[in-house]
Amino acid sequence: MKSLGTPLTERRRKTRNRIFRFIYNSNEPVSKQAMAIDLNLSLPTIHQNVSELLDAGLIRPVETQVSTGGRPPVGYLVVDDVRIAIGVSITTNHIRLLASDIKLNQLAEKSVRKVGGVSADLGKDVKEELELFISENNLDKERILGVGITIPGVLNVKEDAVLLSPSMRLKNISLRSLRDGCRPYPVFIENDGNCAGYAEWMAMSPQDRKKSFAYILLENGVGGTFFINGKTYSGVNHRSGEFGHMCVQPDGLQCNCGARGCLEAYCSAMRFTMDIDKTMEEFFELVHKGDPASKALWDDVLKHLAIGINNIRMIFDGDVLLGGFVSEYLEEYLPDIKRYVAERNAFGDGADFVKLGKFPRKAGMMGIAWHFVNDYIESI
Ligand SMILES: [Zn+2]
Repeated sequence: MKSLGTPLTERRRKTRNRIFRFIYNSNEPVSKQAMAIDLNLSLPTIHQNVSELLDAGLIRPVETQVSTGGRPPVGYLVVDDVRIAIGVSITTNHIRLLASDIKLNQLAEKSVRKVGGVSADLGKDVKEELELFISENNLDKERILGVGITIPGVLNVKEDAVLLSPSMRLKNISLRSLRDGCRPYPVFIENDGNCAGYAEWMAMSPQDRKKSFAYILLENGVGGTFFINGKTYSGVNHRSGEFGHMCVQPDGLQCNCGARGCLEAYCSAMRFTMDIDKTMEEFFELVHKGDPASKALWDDVLKHLAIGINNIRMIFDGDVLLGGFVSEYLEEYLPDIKRYVAERNAFGDGADFVKLGKFPRKAGMMGIAWHFVNDYIESI
């Protein structure tokens, strides 16, 4: 596998990185002249860096129009699959895997249902599925940047353990076997809410990436994350954005975490699926048909979600994005959510800050894989 040489100075590396990013951010072939003008660099500098990127196999030349004699005009595009990142999502009954190239295109995906649940030996299960996934899809091991794994729980970063995962019924489980199971690849393990928010951030335009937003992951558990001025805020104990365990009803419904009245107790998908012995499709069909009990339950979910959204908005004053598989059903209810939020908004400026994320499903897996992509692009 070809690799880039180390430039003589950090300043030169930054120039090369700017040129690479300029090509990376364009979906059309970019000419050397356009690079020189937009980046305010001399043509010799562009020539030199483009040669280095070509030699390393990171970009490729493309003829931009049919030649009318003489040399055809040439533009450059990045080589999308020059490297690959793998994301793995572990939930109560499933191990899901996804491979992405550096342009965030999905190369392969697989979902494995674990009969009887994912075993306590997370490392063994993941090792088997990972090896199978790589060979089934002929993924070039040399190109794999790393394996990212998401878990729906609070991580204890200091002890390298899952501190608590109410939805998986896990407490104080070491992550060592999981890391060993993914060798020889670099491994990154993170909470699913953080990763899903990260996927939304990665998919934003370079301008939007500088903004602040909160992200609520609505699945069987409720999680989330913050981005402040384009950077994640993880908190003193790596527990920021655990919106699911914010109280939205004093002494309210029992939550899996042991407390009462948490957002998760009110807005978890479990409340309107497994707890009432229905699938999501069955439940929303009943809501559509006007079944009074289903409508009342859904309205209660939305009202408590609105309380949670308002609390988050009060704390940090940015957009609030809704994601996770429940959000697939939220588009038609967004006006209701906004109305409930606006009714509670102390500043009377409406609720246009409430938005749906781009990726209702798979965001966690994408986000954890894209961590490797982002680090790789920064290293060029
Ligand atoms: Zn809770």
